[in-house]
Amino acid sequence: MTNKKFMSRFLVKDTAKHIGEKVRVCGWVNSRRAHGKILFIDLRDISGVLQVVFVPSNKEVYDLAETLRPEWVVEIVGQIVKRPENMVNAKIETGQVEMSVESLKVLNESKTLPLSIETDGYEIGEETRMKYRYLDLRRERMKNNLIARHKVIKFIRDFLDKENFTEIETPILTKSTPEGARDYIVPSRLNAGKFYALPQSPQQYKQLLMAAGLEKYFQIAKCLRDEDPRGDRQPEFTQLDLEMSFVEQEDIMDLTERLLILIVKNLFPNKKIQEIPFPRISYKDTMAKYKTDRPDLRKDKKDKDLLAFCWIIDFPFFEKTDEGGWTFTHNPFSAAKQEFDTDLLDKKNIDKILTSQYDVALNGFEIGGGSVRNHRPEGLQKVFEIMGYKKEIIQEKFGHMIEAFKYGTPPHGGIAWGLDRFFALLLNEPNIREVIAFPKTGDGRDFMMQTPSEVDKKQLEELHIKISNTKKPEKK
Ligand code: ASP
Repeated sequence: MTNKKFMSRFLVKDTAKHIGEKVRVCGWVNSRRAHGKILFIDLRDISGVLQVVFVPSNKEVYDLAETLRPEWVVEIVGQIVKRPENMVNAKIETGQVEMSVESLKVLNESKTLPLSIETDGYEIGEETRMKYRYLDLRRERMKNNLIARHKVIKFIRDFLDKENFTEIETPILTKSTPEGARDYIVPSRLNAGKFYALPQSPQQYKQLLMAAGLEKYFQIAKCLRDEDPRGDRQPEFTQLDLEMSFVEQEDIMDLTERLLILIVKNLFPNKKIQEIPFPRISYKDTMAKYKTDRPDLRKDKKDKDLLAFCWIIDFPFFEKTDEGGWTFTHNPFSAAKQEFDTDLLDKKNIDKILTSQYDVALNGFEIGGGSVRNHRPEGLQKVFEIMGYKKEIIQEKFGHMIEAFKYGTPPHGGIAWGLDRFFALLLNEPNIREVIAFPKTGDGRDFMMQTPSEVDKKQLEELHIKISNTKKPEKK
């Protein structure tokens, strides 16, 4: 049964197709102006802006309209009519029409905003933008960035679905994974004195999903790393994380390259990819020629729509630590390149061993990296031995991986893309904070939620935790 009185809500952008009809729209008062006795409101919703006209003859509605202020939320019913010829605005989708108002309802009022939302917002101080992020996101540029982000993620999901990948969520409360950064840890209330770690990436879980026979996994995954503030980093960031079984380096690089090209061609047709297939450079050559492992290969650096992707391959597996031992350069779970397999197993010529790691760089930024993994238990064991871990430590920290590899784990490999950086480059944004809905400041704070913050004494007691020092750690 339909309620005769009910009128479904129209999005502003759809009104232009309904000239002569009575419709109901909802949104924010974008601006208000008067021409003699006639009052005009620009009504804004997610889809655009519609000109709404109030005339004095409809007295009650007109009087209420006179009280409206910017950012008030209103519901308006009225007739969509063609604008007079001289009032047409070719720049907006609803520029041919306007609404002649029948009724007006104020759904909520708004105080004067503490920041302007009409501009791009780059000129506004970060603290204000972050404190009022929900208002900052009302600006056109930020709204469009979030919508573009959604479109890319949807495109990725659809593409990988067609390639027979399964999207699988992995835990956030987990155990420390050695990815080279400090872990965020979470105390356990039920297990006094014990802690979870938040994942630096889903690395171990995705490999265990290969052990489980899922064959092709992906996830739009949150990764958390407690690093010192450096440049444009976030304590939590988003990766496209994927892993495949029975593949070689070429398979993963091919899939990555195809997907990157399709995203650009379908969603950012104004952008030009400088070279396809993406050039491949060895770590040795890039360091010799460009002194960086993420070179900016753009031939014209002034062109904001030029994308120069490249692959960096043949990285050394290990590097010396300050203490004179060895550590991995990228990922301890990687396999050595095939020709160095025996050296790894014999723990010989360690400085010469190359890993199967491949990184993808774009305009001077690393946007992804991955490797073919060590899927045999002895290989992984040797990596940790080279790093000087005692047998008991290897067992305690990685016993579950080595054990899993003893039950028919297939050869596998994968990659992860840093999505935030990729979006920032696609959207010509100088900073990843411009493409994240609720980012933290450079030093890991959230001015809106006022966090990190203190917790109740009772909460600490339940967690068996005593605070001994509230001084900031010294900067290194
Ligand atoms: N887990 C790695 C990272 O986060 C990526 C990978 O090797 O798949 O950098």
